[in-house]
Amino acid sequence: MADQQSDQVEETDREQSRSVSPYKAGLSCKCPNCGDAPIYNGLLELRDVCENCGFDLSKADAGDGAQIFVIMILGALCAIIGAYLYAAIGLPMWAIMIFLIAMIIGGTIWLLRVIKATLVALQFHHDAHEGQLTDEG
Ligand SMILES: [Zn+2]
Repeated sequence: MADQQSDQVEETDREQSRSVSPYKAGLSCKCPNCGDAPIYNGLLELRDVCENCGFDLSKADAGDGAQIFVIMILGALCAIIGAYLYAAIGLPMWAIMIFLIAMIIGGTIWLLRVIKATLVALQFHHDAHEGQLTDEG
């Protein structure tokens, strides 16, 4: 009986989380359930519970996915922009280094927040979780 109520509550939560676009919620770093409250408690620490709708965010697990995307995307962008600034515009190397270091620091923080929030929103949207063994074999 308690399991059925728990299943119904989880099903209701899942249906609500599908009403908000995971990409819209991720880009704005908002709750994947209501899309209104911020998902972060600080720079990159996820909240346990949404302060607007009470959605349980403690099950969120983006793993290392966000870091890999940031390394690949920002690394490629910095290489292309650095080569362009050096070859096409002819900026001195020290100016290119200062520009790229600022771009890496700012871009890493911004991209990590957006990609991590998007991965968490996609996790809830698709109800992704670890596989579980059943008695049925
Ligand atoms: Zn919420």
